[in-house]
Amino acid sequence: MEIRPPETVLEILARLWASGHSGYVVGGSLRDVILGREPADWDLATDARPEQVLELFPGAVYENRFGTVGVRRDGITFEITTFRSDHDYADHRRPHRVEFGDAIEVDLARRDFTINALAWGADAPVVGGGRVAPVVGGGPVAPVVGGGPDAPALRDPYGGIADIEARIIRAVGDPRRRFEEDALRMVRAVRLATTLDFSVEAATLAAMQSRSSLIAHLSAERLAAELDKLLAADRPSIGLRLLAATEILAVFSPELAAQRGVPQNKIPGEDLWDHTVRTVDAVPADRPVVRLAALLHDIGKPSTMADGHFHGHDAVGADLALAFLVQLKFPRAVTDRVTHLVRNHMFTYGEGWSDSGVRRFIRRIGREALTPLFDLREADNEGSGMARSSHGLDELRRRIDDLLARPVVLEREDLAIDGSDLIAELGLEPGPVLGRILDELLEQAITDPAINDRPTLMLMAQSMLTEDR
Ligand code: ATP
Ligand code: MG
Repeated sequence: MEIRPPETVLEILARLWASGHSGYVVGGSLRDVILGREPADWDLATDARPEQVLELFPGAVYENRFGTVGVRRDGITFEITTFRSDHDYADHRRPHRVEFGDAIEVDLARRDFTINALAWGADAPVVGGGRVAPVVGGGPVAPVVGGGPDAPALRDPYGGIADIEARIIRAVGDPRRRFEEDALRMVRAVRLATTLDFSVEAATLAAMQSRSSLIAHLSAERLAAELDKLLAADRPSIGLRLLAATEILAVFSPELAAQRGVPQNKIPGEDLWDHTVRTVDAVPADRPVVRLAALLHDIGKPSTMADGHFHGHDAVGADLALAFLVQLKFPRAVTDRVTHLVRNHMFTYGEGWSDSGVRRFIRRIGREALTPLFDLREADNEGSGMARSSHGLDELRRRIDDLLARPVVLEREDLAIDGSDLIAELGLEPGPVLGRILDELLEQAITDPAINDRPTLMLMAQSMLTEDR
């Protein structure tokens, strides 16, 4: 297997080797290269202790207890981690003690899956029974590639290459023990299966089923980061179905888990969860907010189900979606946008809508939310086995575009006058009366934009005032 890391990575390795240390590329980047995918990052491992790495790479930073030193090159941070084994997993989250080691094998043993337990590189050259004298400092070192007894080689102690070729995710060692140590590995398995389109090996899957409740010990941030990656995959359904099959879903959200078995008059033989999963897949992968909204759009259905209807599931769903997102500590901006979409996903357009009806719709949804809301509804249609444009979506979209192409009144700011005009010309005081008049003018201008000029609005305000008295 020919591995060709980028020049910068080779230079970092060469410096480690030249100073008498082992140097390897490790983990996910090799997996990605073998799959022909662009690695998200290049991680390196060495027997050099963090202080030694700091000396070898002037300007490097070491800000943790786990042996990872960051080296910046060309605006990218490369992480060089001292070989280590992890110990004392007390809380199913992370090791409380790490032990630095001298051999790459030890380091590969702590990694989660066979496909991630690969290394490419070489050990320190041994000269006359001892190691060569370390080179300290920052001078240039020529890359060493190919040839010689210590030519870089691929290390694959757990059959990771074979598993990559068979597209299988398999835990390194006893899967149950590995998931008890760090429960995040179960979610990583689901995420990797989704982004790589791999399947999970039987014993690993069985261990996930039996240990799923340990997910509750994980921090919101780590879970949300995995969910984000899962939802950005081509087909999130792969992972969503795995979450359901392993009962991990119930830990994330009992309400989503309750969608299983809820009947739908949509696709014969499919339930509400099937519909949710289809809807998520039907949203373009580069729309993370809409994908989240698709996941949550019918979260209110199980609890509102009565006589074959889901009355008020949009409003109930918006509240449940909010709770879900807050619990996972999603940023406020995301939470607001997703709940807005869930709350408004049930609009029913009919050709009888007047232009002012369409304008009121635009105002209620907000201009920025229109495209995401249409993306969601198109996906919802597809997830229901219908054409994406069903329910008059194309027609409504066309009318919205037409209306927005002309001057249009949607908000107070669009009116030809403002509060200070009313104060100056009608002698009004700031207060509720002024606000009521502006609201009334806005309502009338939405209905008939032709009235939106200064003299007309002033006259109307004047007569409203007289009527008020
Ligand atoms: P990606 O970078 O594509 O998100 P990755 O597998 O490279 O996926 P990283 O977070 O970059 O994930 O981790 C780098 C490597 O560290 C992994 O490939 C794996 O070998 C190891 N690793 C990461 N997280 C864990 C974990 N929770 N338990 C054991 N090993 C892990
Ligand atoms: Mg990585």
